[in-house]
Amino acid sequence: MRDLSGLNQLLLTVLIFVPFERLFAARPQKIFRRGLLTDMAFLFINGWLVLIGVIVIMTGAALVNRSILPAAVTQAIDDLPYLVQVPIVILIADLGIYWTHRILHVVPAMWQIHSVHHAVEVLDWLAAIHQHPLDVIFMKAGALFPLYALGFSTEAIATYLLVYYWQTWLVHAHVRLGSGPLRRILVSPEFHHWHHSSEAEARDRNFAGLFSFYDVLFGSAYLPKEKKPKTFGIDHPMPSNYLALLAYPFIAWTAKHQRSDPSAIQPQMSNGGEPAQPRHSAPTG
Ligand SMILES: [Zn+2]
Ligand SMILES: [Zn+2]
Repeated sequence: MRDLSGLNQLLLTVLIFVPFERLFAARPQKIFRRGLLTDMAFLFINGWLVLIGVIVIMTGAALVNRSILPAAVTQAIDDLPYLVQVPIVILIADLGIYWTHRILHVVPAMWQIHSVHHAVEVLDWLAAIHQHPLDVIFMKAGALFPLYALGFSTEAIATYLLVYYWQTWLVHAHVRLGSGPLRRILVSPEFHHWHHSSEAEARDRNFAGLFSFYDVLFGSAYLPKEKKPKTFGIDHPMPSNYLALLAYPFIAWTAKHQRSDPSAIQPQMSNGGEPAQPRHSAPTG
């Protein structure tokens, strides 16, 4: 968080989610749990790194808006009232999140980045920020690039960002909360907890951020009625401190490259573990 309003917003988030998780806990869990200090580092440092990426995204989108898209298209969007723009913006952004997230899972080099988020074994609201800055930048590019390129208003995009801000804490919170009859339309904590589940049948499922109907539509939804996700994380060792997690994808890429060269010596991970192996996507449907 970079300013006072950011700190106030963070304080409000703490004041909402800490008691919320106590009241509706999905599992017995401590507030001061393992990995809390690492998550604090993600919370206070990641934003600065992500900012660089967001500036690049917005610059690229502005160039596309001015030089590639026909003026008639951008003018038609500009003429739409705020209340019409907001639902369109949210639908486009979440479609962008869905496909970016899915690519982060199925492309091995991208999975090395995204596996930092999936390394979380104790899931709670704060796990939302346990994400490599490159991962956040890719997700933001998926959501924001089309919006800025198409020329939606800053107010409509800000409304989406506010909705997404609260949704991302909510879906990670360890609360017993599904979407009931709307489970195939809206993403709930239960839906996203399955995304983090270490169980084989839940792997590479439930990619959407807000609308589970994208997963239903593209055949990647997993939401069994009689079961609850119990264990989280991935099946290979990961570093546990912030700097090692920042370095993790680069070490994994280098190690993979060197493995393909028989004369090269494979480097050791800082935690003594093996670099991530690409996961195989579960068949969708
Ligand atoms: Zn994921
Ligand atoms: Zn997550």
